[in-house]
This record gives sequence, C-alpha cells and structure tokens, in this order.
Amino acid sequence: MKLKIDFHVHTNASKDGVSSIQEIVTVAKRKGLDGFAITDHDVVLGAEKAEGISKESGMVVLPGVEISTKAGHLILIDPEKAVPKDLTIYEVIDLVKSWNSPLIIPHPADPFSHGLGEEVVRSIRHLNPAIEVFNASTLFIYNNRARRIAKELGLYEVGGSDAHVASAVGCAYTIVDVEDRTCDDVIKSLRGGKTQAFGKRTPIFSLLELSMRRFL
Ligand SMILES: [Zn+2]
Ligand SMILES: [Zn+2]
Repeated sequence: MKLKIDFHVHTNASKDGVSSIQEIVTVAKRKGLDGFAITDHDVVLGAEKAEGISKESGMVVLPGVEISTKAGHLILIDPEKAVPKDLTIYEVIDLVKSWNSPLIIPHPADPFSHGLGEEVVRSIRHLNPAIEVFNASTLFIYNNRARRIAKELGLYEVGGSDAHVASAVGCAYTIVDVEDRTCDDVIKSLRGGKTQAFGKRTPIFSLLELSMRRFL
C-alpha cells in the first residue's frame, strides 16, 4: 500500500510557525495526505500525543524534531526526547545513536535555511540518513543540488513542505510503501528507503498568509 506523507511540518510550537495541529490535520485531510511528521524546531511533540492525534484524526501522525545543530538543521523522526540546541552535529549523533530514530537531512544545499552542506552530509553518510530532495520552501537550484547529493552518495529521498502555516502543508510529500497504515510501518519504510519525493513550491498566498499571521 502506498501512503502520501509530508515529513516536514511545523506547528505553532515552533517560534516561527503559526498553525495549530488541528488546523494542520484539517488541511492535510483536504489535500489527500495520509499523514505527516511534526518537526518543530528543537521541541518534541510527545509520542503519546502524536498517537492520540493519529487515533482521533485517522491520519498517520509521526512525532519528530528539527534540531538546530551548530552545522545546520537535522530532522529526527520518533525521537526519545528533545536535543539541546547548538551542539555540534557529531555531538548530536552521539547523543541519539541508541534511539533508533530515522534521520532526515532537510534542505541540505540551502545555506540560507541552515542546510548542513555537502561536506557534512558526506561525513555522516554511513548513518544512512534520508535526504530531503524536495523542500517546498527552498529554491529549485537547492533542491536539484540535494537530489544530486542523494544520488551520488546512494542515499534515499524524501519530500517535505517545511510548512510553517497549515495552508502550505502537503506542497511537498513522500510516497512510502507500507504493509499497514501505521506509524511503525511508515518508519520502517523510511528506514528501508522505500520512498519517492514529489512536490511544488509553496504558493505565494501561503507565504503572504504566514507573514500576516506572524505580524498579527
Ligand atoms: Zn530547516
Ligand atoms: Zn523546517
């Protein structure tokens, strides 16, 4: 069975996010997503809370976090807890190595969004991270570079919207191949690289909505 998952979504638990989880669930359903990962900046939505939202909404809601390391951003899916900000990437990796949480490297080639950069990605290649080859919030040139990095290093691909407002959720997404419609199966599929990334850039109205709501 194929599921459509957005692996990179921010709620208002992120300082720069404006939408509640309920708003995000509503939009995700309307857009035909099967689920999404909550990847707030340095804040973790508890696994129990994610499970509750999954049950209530019928969607696959994965807990995650986008960690601000000294080298740039790194996403962990199903983390055990939050990770302190501003550690080196190697300190973070040492800290989470026993967690069995899949790693996603978001917007790796975008220096303006704290991408890790090719050199750092190469240095952690042995951990088999997924590469976000389509991020709806970055430029095509950076997504193309991300795709090239993934291809050269033999790493698998994911797509994520990096939405900071509900209307941008699902602009990019990942098709995962699973046996059952469960968080465990999505994580298994992510780890096994049974993924394909798709997307389009976040539309201008979502960017305007985000700016206005941030201002208000
Ligand atoms: Zn980021
Ligand atoms: Zn993000």
